[in-house]
Amino acid sequence: MTAVRPGAASAAVLERYEPVIGIEVHCQLRTASKMFCACSTEYDGAPPNSRVCPVCFGLPGALPTINRRAVEHVLATGLAVESTIPAATRWDRKNYFYPDLPKGYQISQYDLPLASAGRLTFDTSEGPFTVRITRAHLEEDTAKLLHTTGPDGRRVSLVDFNRSGAPLMEIVTEPDVRTAEQARRYAEELQLLLRAIGASDADMERGQLRVEANVSLRRRGDEAYGTRVEIKNMNSFRSVERAIGAEIERQAAALDAGEAIVQETRGWDETRGATYVMRIKESSDDYRYFPEPDLPPLSIDTAWLDGIRAALPELPSVRRARYRDTLGLSAYDAAVMVADPDAARLFETTLEADRALDPKQVANWVTGEYLRLRNASADPVSVDPSDLAHLVAQVADATISRSNAREILELHVATGEPAAALIEARGFRQISDTGALATVVDEVLAANPQAVADYGAGKAQAVGFLVGQVMKATRGQANAGLVQTAVRERLDRARER
Ligand SMILES: [Zn+2]
Repeated sequence: MTAVRPGAASAAVLERYEPVIGIEVHCQLRTASKMFCACSTEYDGAPPNSRVCPVCFGLPGALPTINRRAVEHVLATGLAVESTIPAATRWDRKNYFYPDLPKGYQISQYDLPLASAGRLTFDTSEGPFTVRITRAHLEEDTAKLLHTTGPDGRRVSLVDFNRSGAPLMEIVTEPDVRTAEQARRYAEELQLLLRAIGASDADMERGQLRVEANVSLRRRGDEAYGTRVEIKNMNSFRSVERAIGAEIERQAAALDAGEAIVQETRGWDETRGATYVMRIKESSDDYRYFPEPDLPPLSIDTAWLDGIRAALPELPSVRRARYRDTLGLSAYDAAVMVADPDAARLFETTLEADRALDPKQVANWVTGEYLRLRNASADPVSVDPSDLAHLVAQVADATISRSNAREILELHVATGEPAAALIEARGFRQISDTGALATVVDEVLAANPQAVADYGAGKAQAVGFLVGQVMKATRGQANAGLVQTAVRERLDRARER
């Protein structure tokens, strides 16, 4: 068995079975107040049950009002994934009993979601892939249950209603996904999109983006779907890929052994690297949906929708395509920068600072030096775009060497001093004068007869060592390209003699 990717199902299994995967994402929307009341959504770290009122507690007589911003976030998401938006929609009560639901029902949307029939395209290791999106609807979040041990040692379950009634968007796909990697990429692309349009912070670790997958297998060539299993508790993109990969393996082994797949909900155990049974679904849940009597239907007029469409920013897929096709960046650089808002911002503003710069060189500095400095630093790293533009231009016209420019960037990040002043203070001037370089190269060759002899004996790596010695002798100021050429010329001449 050979694994295709870490956590992916084995090739042997995928040869016999076709995984059929649908994905459900619950996403907390970025609003100041909750879905149907004025309570604050800033409850992270707040004392339990401190962000509550009669409405989100579901006390008798309390009446909900619709959060306009939350509706706009779902409409924006719907437009961004090319969905159909209805002219009018309504709210429905989803009835079920559970301690995290104070009202005994959740206000949600049943047959008239705010967005339907959309699609999202993203890149995978096997090329672009499109997933059809069935629907995106708006509902309210539940309270949080905490199962713990009380002071007397007895097991207790505590309820924190701070999250109760927070706006939640549910996005459901068609069963189009075929691999664990596609599932992960879909979730990653959705996160980028939600952040780009400002609908959600979509942080998986903070529960702002919760991904669930329905996984079933069918024999290659079969039409009918197999029994599907729902997977929960995947708290990172890596978990999504690993959990689905493990579940595909588990189901394949069961089917090979002639066992029936049980329709159930399974959790993902990150440490064991396996899914486990959470609950068995014997019948489909009966939520007795009916129209919410406390809220009027919601009409979506064209002007409102047009305004939301006009305010949409450049979407991640469009930006990647522009970086690649218009600016000539590699697919890799485009993907890295679009996935990292700070990098994309620095790239864009640096190009704005000097329109004459080559976008590919700026991208190299951003994805290389900038991200290296930022990822190595515990503190926020700030680079002034005009200083980066200055450095890139100075390297491009060979005024300073690349290694000196790197040093200047580090100093700029550390001190905040302008790059031009730092170059002046350090006396950095790239030596591109071949005559001056020739003298240094001759000195270095004379001082390293062993390396010269090694090269004569066919050890090509001696060149790198000698170039390094010249760079050292010139404090990194020599034009590395010219040094390389000069060293080779002299070595080849010496060998011919
Ligand atoms: Zn409230």
